[in-house]
Amino acid sequence: RDLRLAEAQDRHRAHGAVEPFAVLALSGPAARVPVVFQEGMRKLERHALWFPPLDRATPPVCDACGGPPGEASICADPAHEALLCPRCRTFCQTCGAGLCSGHARVCSCGATACPAHGAACESCGEACCAAHTLSCGRCCRKFCRRHAFACGICGLAACTDHAKRCGSCDIELCGEHQSPCDVTGRTACPRHAKACGGCGETVLDLAWKDGRCETCRTLASAAPGDPAVAAAETLVPEARGAAWRSARTKTRVLLTGSTLLSRYRVWLARDLSLLSAWGGSKLFGMKKIR
Ligand SMILES: [Zn+2]
Ligand SMILES: [Zn+2]
Ligand SMILES: [Zn+2]
Ligand SMILES: [Zn+2]
Ligand SMILES: [Zn+2]
Ligand SMILES: [Zn+2]
Ligand SMILES: [Zn+2]
Ligand SMILES: [Zn+2]
Repeated sequence: RDLRLAEAQDRHRAHGAVEPFAVLALSGPAARVPVVFQEGMRKLERHALWFPPLDRATPPVCDACGGPPGEASICADPAHEALLCPRCRTFCQTCGAGLCSGHARVCSCGATACPAHGAACESCGEACCAAHTLSCGRCCRKFCRRHAFACGICGLAACTDHAKRCGSCDIELCGEHQSPCDVTGRTACPRHAKACGGCGETVLDLAWKDGRCETCRTLASAAPGDPAVAAAETLVPEARGAAWRSARTKTRVLLTGSTLLSRYRVWLARDLSLLSAWGGSKLFGMKKIR
């Protein structure tokens, strides 16, 4: 690994070159000679002082310490045009690019990262190396290990805004593996999500027993004059006069109606607006009617 890093660092060493035509245009005792340092696609022009009578040249200096540049690097921050001597730079652990002290991100694991191979946590600003940057699959923002979690099912990261815990086993879940339970108001992982055979809702296993969700198991005859029944009969007129039973979830009201030949299931929001309605004959089952 040390050898690979040394090779990578070698690739990132800037190569200085004196432009020969510039030297030919000289006159006078001392001259400024442009020296172009090149590192990959980036070029940096500095000047050397040349004294033709003595045939002596003063090379450009390190932009950080003013000393001789030696085997110079250009800071890997794309906006920072700085020539750095070996003493004034650190290397990105991933690509080997040289960095000034202002642009080297040092992760809590001790690794240094350049701007392309590290990130600052969107939540706390902490510097993270490539291996310890978690990118939320929902919002694509980057976070440190304290502000994002790996999904307990698929391993993909989710930030604190987009991860939810399973109410049964407590593992963190990415958006893809969260199943909301309106009975408990919590979230179920795929292992603890159960489908109700009565209403078809998916609920947390804690709210499910013998194939039925808690909502269906707690359905009770609606009280006379129940405003939810009046709302259901206005919204689904064909169900008028049915015998109604009702139950509440965290955010909704479930009503089931029964007439001599037909059955109905109506989901209302807490403000009694219609969410969905199902109906059909007792013999052939229900289908969505609203
Ligand atoms: Zn220096
Ligand atoms: Zn820099
Ligand atoms: Zn953080
Ligand atoms: Zn790290
Ligand atoms: Zn997110
Ligand atoms: Zn997942
Ligand atoms: Zn679970
Ligand atoms: Zn149910």
